[in-house]
Amino acid sequence: MRFPTGELAPGLVYDHIHKQLVLDGNSQQNLATFCTTWMEPEVERLMAESADKNMIDKDEYPQTAAIEEQCVHMLADLWNSPEAATTIGCSTTGSSEAAMLGGLALKWNWRKRRQAAGRPTNRPNLIVGPVQVCWHKFCRYFDVEIREVPMQGERLLLTAEEVVSRCDENTIGVVVTLGVTFTLQYEPVAAIAAALDRLQAETGLDVPIHVDGASGGFLAPFLQPEVVWDFRLPRVKSINASGHKFGLAPLGVGWALWRERHDLPQELIFDVNYLGGNMPTFALNFSRPGGEIICQYYNFLRLGREGYARIQRECAELGRYLAGEIGKLGVFRIVYDGEGGIPGLCWQLAEPGKSPFTLYQVADALRERGWLVPAYSMPAEREDLVIQRILVRHGFTRAMAEELLRELRAVLAEFAKNPPQVAAVPDSGAIHDHSGR
Ligand SMILES: *Cc1c(COP(=O)(O)O)cnc(C)c1O
Repeated sequence: MRFPTGELAPGLVYDHIHKQLVLDGNSQQNLATFCTTWMEPEVERLMAESADKNMIDKDEYPQTAAIEEQCVHMLADLWNSPEAATTIGCSTTGSSEAAMLGGLALKWNWRKRRQAAGRPTNRPNLIVGPVQVCWHKFCRYFDVEIREVPMQGERLLLTAEEVVSRCDENTIGVVVTLGVTFTLQYEPVAAIAAALDRLQAETGLDVPIHVDGASGGFLAPFLQPEVVWDFRLPRVKSINASGHKFGLAPLGVGWALWRERHDLPQELIFDVNYLGGNMPTFALNFSRPGGEIICQYYNFLRLGREGYARIQRECAELGRYLAGEIGKLGVFRIVYDGEGGIPGLCWQLAEPGKSPFTLYQVADALRERGWLVPAYSMPAEREDLVIQRILVRHGFTRAMAEELLRELRAVLAEFAKNPPQVAAVPDSGAIHDHSGR
């Protein structure tokens, strides 16, 4: 493909690209993604109105900067920060960037403690469970040993025991995920915090927790207010969440918050003066669009706690409904039934060894009918376990759920009549990983 030589009329080019995009998948039938695919018209208008706003340019767009700051304080309040008004935090392009920033703060704080004690600082490690790929990236990009607690048998999450047994003086922190991408379940933040409190009392090791609340940060406060996972736990020093997942904002916004000012090392903050004012910045990107943040603010004002709770409850209910119906089909075993974690469900084959079809084949057949319902294998040491997952997001309706069930029953009936060819890809091995989207 050559770089074009001449000019074309705008309308012509628009039509050309518009037609090209029509052939993309239909986002309403994409049950794989965690991200926002439905927006109110007001959000679309605000996005269009703020297309020229650059988040970094706080001097030129002080109102946008103030909106970002207000979102940080509202989130600090939502996540029970001891001092919501002075909590420090920032917007990011998503949870991945927020995870890099959270991880860097853990590493810097650990290094400062080690230097002060005259101890070596060359072998930092981070303890994680079945994390999203961003934490593997963080560890590789920033030279931190990843101590990944493998899944074991029926245990698909991090536990307090497994965490504590891996902690040492080089542990910069523990990442606990509120809403694991593979299974949608919450990891037990409070139990892990309590175990780390005991570890500190016994050994002096003080290991901080970062909560990856990419999804859960915008779910637990509304769906499971009784779950204590946030800044109510003094050991939780930082939290990230994706505004563009259950925060319901358009694509391109995440959040990173630190419990108290000293939890974010000052050395990581740069002061830049070349945009007209003196601006502190803590981010991997420089220029970045402001519209998503403005729309996040719109959602906070528009929905409030009650609106978010209503929407998330409706999604959770549909997830439980689908789990009930899909469980009844007889050939699947429900792994997560939509209760207590992210709205949605996941299942495995009831008898993987005897099934005439694989979940990959179910996924392919549904795909041919327009539905994206991914099948993927689990991470270390349950690579043998293949799961299929549905995420229920805002915009998914009961009628769509019924349509999907009809299609799934049709696929199974077809498989019963004409069993598919012997699977080229049996339900084992890390071939497809669609889990992290
Ligand atoms: C989606 C997700 C991420 C990455 O977030 P982005 O906003 O897509 O960058 C990180 N952690 C978890 C648990 C996730 O679900």
